[in-house]
Amino acid sequence: MRAKKLIFISHAGEDECHATWLSECIRLTYDNEVEVFVSKEITSGEDDRSTIINNARKASAAISLLSPIATQKTWVIFEAGMFIGRGTLFVPFIFAGTTREMMPNCMQGSQYKKLCKKDDIRKGFEDINKAISRGEIIDSEKVYNYFKDATSPRPVDCESLKAEHVKQKNENKSFNSDWKNKYSLCFCNGSYYYSLHEKDANGEPPHFLCSACFQNGIKSILKVSFKENHFIGHCLNDNRHDCEVDGVSYYKEDNRFQ
Ligand SMILES: [Zn+2]
Repeated sequence: MRAKKLIFISHAGEDECHATWLSECIRLTYDNEVEVFVSKEITSGEDDRSTIINNARKASAAISLLSPIATQKTWVIFEAGMFIGRGTLFVPFIFAGTTREMMPNCMQGSQYKKLCKKDDIRKGFEDINKAISRGEIIDSEKVYNYFKDATSPRPVDCESLKAEHVKQKNENKSFNSDWKNKYSLCFCNGSYYYSLHEKDANGEPPHFLCSACFQNGIKSILKVSFKENHFIGHCLNDNRHDCEVDGVSYYKEDNRFQ
């Protein structure tokens, strides 16, 4: 089995909860196919320093979480030096009011990114994806929403963060299956699509979902147009998904698709 690529998160002790939150977010994004090392994971009895250095050597990409406090920490600066010296992809993410001027000299030349800008978060993780050969896109909206109000230092409360993650994951799961149960797979002239059950309509008008998007957990309602005696369903999420749908019955019965 190929070893998992490792992302190293460097941070100040005061920002441990933020590093933990980000590490959980990264693990969820890559479905645990990528290792994330944050220094808090060192178990007692081990030589902290050598554990950190060994993981820094294994890392394919490194993130430095730079709050104003972190910019003052010699350990954070030392770790940055290791990555810059080794040529490891190194992304300093600034937050909680850190400015370029506050950054240590050795990091001012690095391509730093702001956690208060969604575009910066996306670009930072695109670079990380290249370094670890992955294609998953992190939810930059979620990272932005977390870090926009993050302060430093903040009391460590990792347990509730983890619980929140699990809760959200379960909510997403049940949300996904809940709406899927309201539709059935249909077939018309070589194309598949999903159709809303009348009994589950709950006031919603009759509509069809793109089957390709459905499989990916995306609820994409087909835009239906009438063309040469056929109904064509256009997927608005991906224009390659167009298909033929059987809207004739609806059309004949109550002229819904005129
Ligand atoms: Zn689609």
